[in-house]
Amino acid sequence: MKISRVAGCLTLALLSFFSQAQTSILGFTPASAAHETEVESKYKSIPTPDEERRQHRIFTSEPHVAGSKRNNELAEYIRDEWKKQGLEDVIIRRYDVYGTNPKSASLEMIAPTHYQATLREAPLDGDPDSKDPAISGAWLGMSISGDVTAPVVYAHSGNPEDYDLLRKNRITVKGKIVLVRYSNPYSYRGFKALTAQREGAAAMLVYSDPQEDGYKKGKVDPDGPWGPEYHIQRGAITYDFMVPGDPQTPGWASVPGAKRIPIEQAVSAPKIMALPLSWHDAKPLLENLDGPLAPQDWQGGLPFQYHLGSERVKVHLKIEMDNGIQPYYVVEGRIRGAELPDEWVVMGNHRDAWVFGGVDPSSGTASMMELTRALGQLAKNGMRPRRTLVICSWDGEEVGLTGSTEWGEQFADELRAKAVAYINVDEATSGPNFHGQAVASLAPMLVETTRTLQDPSGKSLYDTWKATAAREKEEGKQSGQMNDSGVSDGSLADTRIGSGSDHTVFLNFVGMPVIGLQFDGDYGVYHSGYDDFYWMNHFGDPGYHYHTLMSQLWGVTALRLANADLLPFDFASYASNIRQFVGEVGREKTMWGQPPSAVQPGEARKPMLELKPILSAVDNFEAAGQRLNESLSRKLAAGQIDPKLALTLNHGMMQVERNWLNPDGIPGRPWFKHILYGARFTYAHLELPGLTEAVEAQDWPTAKQQAEILQRALQNNTTLVNELNSRLTH
Ligand SMILES: [Zn+2]
Repeated sequence: MKISRVAGCLTLALLSFFSQAQTSILGFTPASAAHETEVESKYKSIPTPDEERRQHRIFTSEPHVAGSKRNNELAEYIRDEWKKQGLEDVIIRRYDVYGTNPKSASLEMIAPTHYQATLREAPLDGDPDSKDPAISGAWLGMSISGDVTAPVVYAHSGNPEDYDLLRKNRITVKGKIVLVRYSNPYSYRGFKALTAQREGAAAMLVYSDPQEDGYKKGKVDPDGPWGPEYHIQRGAITYDFMVPGDPQTPGWASVPGAKRIPIEQAVSAPKIMALPLSWHDAKPLLENLDGPLAPQDWQGGLPFQYHLGSERVKVHLKIEMDNGIQPYYVVEGRIRGAELPDEWVVMGNHRDAWVFGGVDPSSGTASMMELTRALGQLAKNGMRPRRTLVICSWDGEEVGLTGSTEWGEQFADELRAKAVAYINVDEATSGPNFHGQAVASLAPMLVETTRTLQDPSGKSLYDTWKATAAREKEEGKQSGQMNDSGVSDGSLADTRIGSGSDHTVFLNFVGMPVIGLQFDGDYGVYHSGYDDFYWMNHFGDPGYHYHTLMSQLWGVTALRLANADLLPFDFASYASNIRQFVGEVGREKTMWGQPPSAVQPGEARKPMLELKPILSAVDNFEAAGQRLNESLSRKLAAGQIDPKLALTLNHGMMQVERNWLNPDGIPGRPWFKHILYGARFTYAHLELPGLTEAVEAQDWPTAKQQAEILQRALQNNTTLVNELNSRLTH
């Protein structure tokens, strides 16, 4: 941003005298840092809790699922607001995608007794929105239509190992209806659906057990944040872990008139019926199941013993869907950079919600509207960022990361040439605990940014982040899940990035560094009709202080990337993360083909794949990164930088992330091109995806080939970083 440097000069001199931290910012010369500090303090003073709340109410006043009239009206509302706020080039982009809508659903237990499932969420006292007749019933996006009567089998979390256990008990699910539950830790329901489909089940019912997000956790809505008896977790079952976005345009944009593959050939389109249930509707089924007693860790929070089932419980399930082509709308706006308009910092949040979207995503949307108001106000006052800020309101994230994927595919080449980074905010706030995610090269700048923000507790966001991380580490230890994310600065940001939100296309397809920001807390109404304005005002963020903090954090992070003299990438930090990832592959059981007993005494065990060449390539990359860090700091400390040199250095540094892309993608999933970051089918993070999956599958020729690809990328980036360094030292 550009502002008059005369005003405030004296105050800044004093500030820099008292606080070194405020005038030293990664990527900035001392003079630019002083200026940036002034811009940021003006920026931070603009968002207010009252405005956050007002915007939140607008977005949560009616259900606004992807493709609905209301969601499209909200796109127009955002466009009009952004124009008023001073954003430029505001445009609504249309994509004609394969969408999904429910027509009707019914579930009836016909044996051993009769029970008609309600498939609705009962109104709650004190929450007027919960009485809205426009709230949808139970449905899962991308389920197929069908009509089936079959016995029910309980399959726990619906993961492959759960079916192995059923097989051990001589229970088949072929042609039957599997009843699975939402699991903790989270496993994407689309993976449960694919697993049920592969097992030959006729349909999948997925319910919310009170043990996971209901009364076993604490007080339920309207008295507490946890899920009440009737809450239904809607969601899509799209196989977007294979390829996200419109299933009929894998790898290219669904602009009107685009080529489309037949839906039968689309790998991400499910071929199974699926329906979500509240525990109220699941209970009659579960308590009537006979057959073997389910194992201890399959038992849940309902007050009876769970059984695996045989032929006793029969249900009639009928689902009618209206799946087909429909328009989704992405709203795009920008603030053009004053000096480097062709370098972009991209930001986004999705607009579509399963119902009201109190947390998911409207907390993020409210924070985005205050972000854009504050940025617009600065621009109107003549304070323009050096680089261009591009801001998008995505559509259909909930269906298959659809809007962001189509937009990212449409502008992939331009983004690869211009984009510095993407900053995603999906659920901004469901509580006070901060979680920051970043590719490792941006982790240090994110940590530094949190030092300049104040948490509602009065401490710095950095301090409360550390406290949260320490507490979670302790809890992780107690629950037996080893969590090696310590609380040193270097391990504060989560650098293990899976899928499940709109950053996916930018990281995995375009090759852009990404950052994700979120405050969370106790939250049991995810994707239900109870995730609404009432819930936010009573439990999530009653004073809207965390919404406000999110707008501040999001904007300051973007401004630092937009205004830096030399982009604040840290490749030494990247290298040390990659070393950890490689170390984890080295510890995979499959790496050691023969058991220790098969090894002759005195003979060293040999791994199936030699990782030493990769580790030495990582060492070289780290050394290059360290040298560059030192040269960059020296250069910045010396003041003014020649603009031509800055351009060369910045574009070189932007190229590093692109160099992690393999155009062929990871084996079996060509859309996912990043060789460091991927996601498992559950959405969980998966580092070195091609190599790791090959090692797990003991496919040694593929593992060797993937190792070579990784080694080559490390060598290329080492050469590139060394070249950039030589520009600074000669
Ligand atoms: Zn979301």
